Amino acid sequence: MKYSEIFYSIQGEGQLVGLPSVFFRTSYCNLRCIWCDTPYTSWQPEDKDISVEDAVTAILAYNCPQVVITGGEPFMQAKELTRLCQQLGQQGQHITIETNGTLFEPVEADLLSISPKLANSNPDANNHHFPLHQRLRINQPVLRQFLDQYNCQLKFVVETERDLVEIQQLQQEMQIPSSTIVLMPPGITRDQIQGKQNWMVEICKQQGYRYSPRLQVDIWGDQRGI
Ligand code: SF4
Repeated sequence: MKYSEIFYSIQGEGQLVGLPSVFFRTSYCNLRCIWCDTPYTSWQPEDKDISVEDAVTAILAYNCPQVVITGGEPFMQAKELTRLCQQLGQQGQHITIETNGTLFEPVEADLLSISPKLANSNPDANNHHFPLHQRLRINQPVLRQFLDQYNCQLKFVVETERDLVEIQQLQQEMQIPSSTIVLMPPGITRDQIQGKQNWMVEICKQQGYRYSPRLQVDIWGDQRGI
């Protein structure tokens, strides 16, 4: 399985924020978000290899009941992901998979943490990645399968009012409960995040969405493996 890192930290985002967790970061992504904060898994993936069995051993070695499989896009390696989740599930691990929600495979997981990408993620229009990213970034049939079959949260990175219009349109078209939707500020520094906090909290109060901090940025700033 191609991966870039395994580390022990706390969940910084979403409904399990603050919970100690082992992170297994897989390589490769089918999208090219302009603000991607893990280019070493998407734009320039590190080609480190690990067998599923060795990954399970490495994850269990931390003796932590929560594992977060993240990326990149974990569903790019669907066969290996299926085996990994099966083996972690057999060991009683609580499994969160963080995904962009564009590829589906019926894997064993306790929480699907889906981050559908809004137009604010588009590369520049003259970038050769633009057409594919724009075409792939929202896949309603895949989102439908996840929402119908798993405990899900839909996390959105929100920069402007226009993003909210997109979220509400998707919510309406797919009949997504507000309690499933999580809004997160953009940014890789505390200042960038704090600049948007008050505005976003008011929107969450109005709409019944959950506000998520980016605790890893608050605590450590723009660092990897933490
Ligand atoms: S989906 Fe995630 S990993 Fe892939 S390019 Fe976008 S932010 Fe990066």
